[in-house]
Amino acid sequence: MTTHTTRMLILGSGPAGLSAAIYGARAGMAPIVVQGIQPGGQLTTTTDVENYPGFADVIQGPWLMEQMQKQAEHVGTRLMWDTIIQVDLSTRPFRLIGDGGDVYEGDVLVIATGAQAKWLGIDSEEPMKGKGVSACATCDGFFYRGKKVAVIGGGNTAVEEALYLTNHSDDVTLIHRRDTLRAERILQERLHAHPNITVLWNKEVREFVDGGGNAGLVALALEDTVTGETSRLDVEGGFVAIGHHPATELFRGHLALDDDGYIAVETGSTRTSVPGVFACGDVADKVYRQAVTAAGTGCMAALDAERFLAAAEFAELAEAAE
Ligand code: NDP
Repeated sequence: MTTHTTRMLILGSGPAGLSAAIYGARAGMAPIVVQGIQPGGQLTTTTDVENYPGFADVIQGPWLMEQMQKQAEHVGTRLMWDTIIQVDLSTRPFRLIGDGGDVYEGDVLVIATGAQAKWLGIDSEEPMKGKGVSACATCDGFFYRGKKVAVIGGGNTAVEEALYLTNHSDDVTLIHRRDTLRAERILQERLHAHPNITVLWNKEVREFVDGGGNAGLVALALEDTVTGETSRLDVEGGFVAIGHHPATELFRGHLALDDDGYIAVETGSTRTSVPGVFACGDVADKVYRQAVTAAGTGCMAALDAERFLAAAEFAELAEAAE
């Protein structure tokens, strides 16, 4: 069992955590990144990435994350493989404990543990991911230009994704398991007013139908939640938009979370309810959820952390001089 100490401790190694590390290392904070169970985050399970600025050609998600890791290491970040099982944010330095007993101490802590999309959990879903089934229309909608697509869900995300998909498709169906939407009224009004969106009420997806060979998704098998009647909807893209799980279990009771379980940050900053603890990326963002916004808030977290440390160190010096 070893104790690892740093001025800047970062938990999570997706675009948010690694961007915080790049900025933190260049500011002389010698960050340690504890990578967690999915090093590289959600982009490591994606293939084509066309919306991360700076690359004229299509790049691969895992490659992008590998580049970010190397960049973070080149400027002085230490990457550690560990899974944190316990946190103590009651005093500084903050302490995190790994499942093998290693202790990580940081004068500041940046939380970038991300979020995971919720999935329907039906058998055909996993094999069809990347073959027509996706949980992010903003990321993958472009690949379905001119094709029939469906969005599953009834909250803000589902409605926003359906509206977004009309940029690429003139045949979008929103499938909801009840007969009223959870989404905000303004979004509902836009949805219903859109000529290219059809809403199917009281329907659940029972199967993502594989066309065989290289065909990918060809249809959704549906069941009516009221009558039990089954039907088929021909689509080539199926977007599951039924919510996300922010990875905040470790911090419950230690930090303020919002009603949906995301870490609450002060508007326009990455400051959490505990001074010296910052949150960035999807763990604190249920609205944008993009790699580039995660990277942006990672940069913000490093700048906020640097300012916090400078102020804390100045206060300590002033106190010592008295
Ligand atoms: P929500 O939890 O709000 O909505 C999830 C939707 O998926 C619900 O309609 C739910 O149905 C449905 N659903 C859940 N599980 C299943 C299932 N197994 N099968 C079929 N349908 C299912 O998630 P969102 O991602 O939409 O939003 C999360 C939070 O983020 C909310 O607070 C939202 O307001 C916020 N948000 C804000 C945005 C903005 O401000 N622009 C954009 C996006 C999100 P049912 O209604 O029957 O429970």
